[in-house]
Amino acid sequence: MVDKVEKIWLDGSFVNWDDAKVHVLTHTLHYGLGVFEGIRCYKLGSGKSAIFRLREHVERLFDSAHICTMKLEQSPEQVAQACLETVRVNRLEECYLRPLAFLGDGAMGLGATENRTHLTVVAWKWGAYLGDEGLKKGIRAKVSSFTRPGVNAVMAKGKVVGHYVNSILAKREAMAAGYQEAIMLDGQGYVCEASGENIFMVKKGRIYTPALGAAILGGITRDSVMTLCQELGLPVVERPITRDELYIADEIFMCGTAAELTPVREIDDRTIGAGSRGAITVKVLKRYFEAGRGEGKAYPEWLSVV
Ligand code: PMP
Repeated sequence: MVDKVEKIWLDGSFVNWDDAKVHVLTHTLHYGLGVFEGIRCYKLGSGKSAIFRLREHVERLFDSAHICTMKLEQSPEQVAQACLETVRVNRLEECYLRPLAFLGDGAMGLGATENRTHLTVVAWKWGAYLGDEGLKKGIRAKVSSFTRPGVNAVMAKGKVVGHYVNSILAKREAMAAGYQEAIMLDGQGYVCEASGENIFMVKKGRIYTPALGAAILGGITRDSVMTLCQELGLPVVERPITRDELYIADEIFMCGTAAELTPVREIDDRTIGAGSRGAITVKVLKRYFEAGRGEGKAYPEWLSVV
């Protein structure tokens, strides 16, 4: 259960948590055309809090809306301010932020174009998405029987509400079989990403990840990881990855705003590397958590101080 906070930002002003309600004919609820973001806010060493890579998340929200031909009423600057205000008003030190743009009620049917595009920003406290133990020991993942839809089936570069049916089916299947996460392949069998994370593999000191041309979300954590790997002198190669390459990798990790950086110790009952957090994974993971809290080499453009 999500712990309630006091206020939710909705269409330009704050309402009480319990009053942030929508009509059952909300268009997005029926057909899935809506766009959203997941953002984290961390407490810095200075005691202040900062939203991590806010600018990039807002930019992707607008890109997702553009892909979906949705027009937001707000400017990117107003959405960024709404996120900062939501943290401030609720006096949160660390939290997860969920901006969501959705089509309201009014007309029904797929051809409806006049319904209002609402925007909300909700904040709540969210710990390690794949569990504290997952962060420490690594998780067990399963290659999904559900295929990631092709690049011209869904627009994977958009973070679109309806896309997540595919991810949820994969996640539920994996969990029911006793695994913590699902790995999605494309129609040809190449590795795309996990249900809500991008994936990286380490082999002989080199780091590999599928290129943005694959049917994957352009993860902002993926981008942060690539920058941090460069800083650490670790080469990252973007190229297609096969399922069996995962099995024989030295290390694998998943990354996303919610999951942060989570090591994978087993895939389809095959131990990955030594079966625990690998040395390179730990190095990158450490730097990722430092960067979010403004420690070590500074990336001031990544931190929007609340
Ligand atoms: N892929 C999918 C399908 C996701 O839902 C997410 C989470 N937004 C990611 C990758 C990782 O993206 P990010 O690092 O921007 O959170």
